[in-house]
Amino acid sequence: MRFLTFLSLIVLLNSCETKATKTEHSRPNIVFIMADDHATNAISAYGSHLTTVFKTPNIDRLAKEGMRMDRTYCVNAICTPSRASILTGQYGHTNGVKTLSDAIPPDAVNVADLLRAGGYETALFGKWHLKTEPFGFDYWKVAQGQGSYYNPVFKEIGIPYIVKKDEQKTMGYYTDLVTDYALDWLIKRKSDKPFALFLHHKAPHGRWEPAKRHLDFLSNVEIPEPASLWEDFSHRSEASRTFGTSISHRLAPRRNMIDDVSSKKWNAGPIDISGLNEKEQTQAVYQKYLKDYLRCVKAVDENVGRVLDYLDQAGLTENTLVVYTSDQGMFLGEHDYFDKRWIFEEAFRMPFIARLPGEIPAGSNTQALCANIDFAPTLLSFANLPVPDVMQGKSFRDILETGKKPDDWRTSVYYRYWMHLAHHQIPGHYGVRTDRYKLVFFYGLSLGSSGSIDKPTPPGWELYDLQNDPTEVNNVYNHPEYNEVTKKLKLELLRLKAEYNDSDDVYPDLQKVVTEYWD
Ligand code: CA
Repeated sequence: MRFLTFLSLIVLLNSCETKATKTEHSRPNIVFIMADDHATNAISAYGSHLTTVFKTPNIDRLAKEGMRMDRTYCVNAICTPSRASILTGQYGHTNGVKTLSDAIPPDAVNVADLLRAGGYETALFGKWHLKTEPFGFDYWKVAQGQGSYYNPVFKEIGIPYIVKKDEQKTMGYYTDLVTDYALDWLIKRKSDKPFALFLHHKAPHGRWEPAKRHLDFLSNVEIPEPASLWEDFSHRSEASRTFGTSISHRLAPRRNMIDDVSSKKWNAGPIDISGLNEKEQTQAVYQKYLKDYLRCVKAVDENVGRVLDYLDQAGLTENTLVVYTSDQGMFLGEHDYFDKRWIFEEAFRMPFIARLPGEIPAGSNTQALCANIDFAPTLLSFANLPVPDVMQGKSFRDILETGKKPDDWRTSVYYRYWMHLAHHQIPGHYGVRTDRYKLVFFYGLSLGSSGSIDKPTPPGWELYDLQNDPTEVNNVYNHPEYNEVTKKLKLELLRLKAEYNDSDDVYPDLQKVVTEYWD
């Protein structure tokens, strides 16, 4: 697909089945802005306990002028796999990127490549975070791997994409620089083709280093705590409860994070927690973490504003689809966590806001269940291009334009986290979320997936009734009144695994665990 020519695309258009493709609409430009680890709770358009002290006026402007999607989910809530799913419209077990260590195959189906072959001029700026050189773009300029907040090293198309020591740094702040590059590309482009600009921020990924102009932002403000910061874990299954008791992904009481924020490793400055009791330490770490995180978001929001202002000035607003999203969510102290990876809402849920005047109703929102595998089909649909059958997601263009779900729209989302025990020691699990419920099976095995740790952990099920327990602090899996619900959700889980061809046939260890624990 990488070398698809325009001629072969025409053949493809005439021969292959198309999904949700419309032909009556002129093709809009696309500006796809993606942050990294930006939780919906840190976007004021979504509303949260943080809204009283922190606002994102420019991202909010997009929501006011477009649609805010409230139930968009990441099918594997971790950076590299999510980026691969966004590009390919596929689950990780299909595109080969299940963990941070997997490389995307160079012949993978790729929305940017399809847009380019379909007549768009395509460009990528900022974070790529896939192991291969970027492909599918007429132009790219990216930082390798995570990149640095300050004075990053950028690579651009035409220069070998290999890591070298002592490479030339660009002076400045990452979030500002990538926006500078993107706007410069827009200003200088000469093509009369529509454009598809992918602007991928590093922020607010940790370790958090705010721009110098934001170092004092929020310094005299007390950040409200989420109620679940103080969650009593006794409701959890052994499969998740026992993880987080002595490890790094929780703020308290067992936090490597305290070591982080009290050390000089943080360019934003350490804090002194000596002499504080355990609860006070948790509170101090929470304040430090949230302030640095939100300061990084502040620069992203400002730079979103710069892009929107440019589109206005250049007369491009009316015919440009602007998307704001993040590769997944993030725990901001909820469940006493920082990081992502778990199927719990704060990590699983992605922001997705889209504006296209005259097509997407201003100030609208939807509760339709969507996923990152849908992004590529949706962009292709807006470009009036066919969606390849190998993509597992579906276009939600109709939902954006009408606010209504098609009759055959999905009623559940399938999730799978593969990177067993790596980095933050979160067990391998899969699960299903419906409008009301979430059922999770922690199978606790590495299954040989790259980067995972081959040490089995206790299997277990958890069930959350999101209508009665939206913050997921009451696992009701063993409550008899939910037995029928559980049975139905287990069948739905099997149906989804079959639909997405995630059969686990090649994992006898997992089949053994499933046999033992399914009922
Ligand atoms: Ca991420």
